[in-house]
Amino acid sequence: MTASGEETLAALHWLVDAGADEAVGDAPVDRFVTRPNPPLEGGSKNSSAATNFSGRGPTSAPDPSPKKPSAFSTLPQGEGKKALANILPADAAPLTDGYASAIDIAARAQTLPELKAALESFEGSALKARATTTVFADGNPNARILLIGEAPGFDEDKAGVPFVGRAGKLLDKMLAPIGLDRTSVYIINVMPWRPPDNRNPDPSEVAMCIPFLRRHIELAAPRMMILLGAVSARHVLGVNDGIMKLRGKWLEYRIGTEMIPVLPTLHPAYLLRQPAHKKLAWRDLQAAAARLEELGLPAQD
Ligand code: URA
Repeated sequence: MTASGEETLAALHWLVDAGADEAVGDAPVDRFVTRPNPPLEGGSKNSSAATNFSGRGPTSAPDPSPKKPSAFSTLPQGEGKKALANILPADAAPLTDGYASAIDIAARAQTLPELKAALESFEGSALKARATTTVFADGNPNARILLIGEAPGFDEDKAGVPFVGRAGKLLDKMLAPIGLDRTSVYIINVMPWRPPDNRNPDPSEVAMCIPFLRRHIELAAPRMMILLGAVSARHVLGVNDGIMKLRGKWLEYRIGTEMIPVLPTLHPAYLLRQPAHKKLAWRDLQAAAARLEELGLPAQD
């Protein structure tokens, strides 16, 4: 059926009245078509044994000192909406100014304290409106190892610090045997706000947190990441495989021009429910320790 000129004009008026008065792409996008969910960060791929992670030389992990903004964080005006449209799951709610501003605000932060301040003053998240605190990070921001969990729980929401409840206590116990503690790791979550009653956040709520997560990783510039649980693996690496399939496999994550090794493992909260699987997490953490040694990266200077 072809629309008449009048109908087309009426449709255009309707869109303009609804606020859709800006072209954000060169071609129209049909958001009702299901598309595969692309990686949320500069890609993930299996890390082959030949990958150079020497920790020194031209392809070593990034120098954490000058925290340069990445290409993603220097998008020209208006490009933010386009970029977000690429990373949103197909079933996410339509783009709103909230998403675009999350990208722009996160990109503007040049330091971790600035990012923290940006998150604390961000008004575009429904999750934040229901949370008690913004749970930014714990541990050593200069650490070489970044641990990423899922979202704050009841205790973390109250304290404003990640992994302080039962799962956090188990995490500390898991790190100790490989010589790590909160002075030698940096710990964040995919979501800095507790979903009400610990319910699963919906895709649009998670999407709003992703620009902040990506920027947080960039600014922390770790040399290795350990992803705690399936939610972390999915949103950091953009992979949908189950955690049992992913755990213990070395993957890579791009920060600027560098690739760093990433190891998904089991979430301590899951291990509290399935203690028989602690041995798998133990194996993963031992592999992480061995990898650090192989790369000549002591946990601390
Ligand atoms: N579980 C998480 O994933 N993060 C926390 O901070 C606490 C529990």
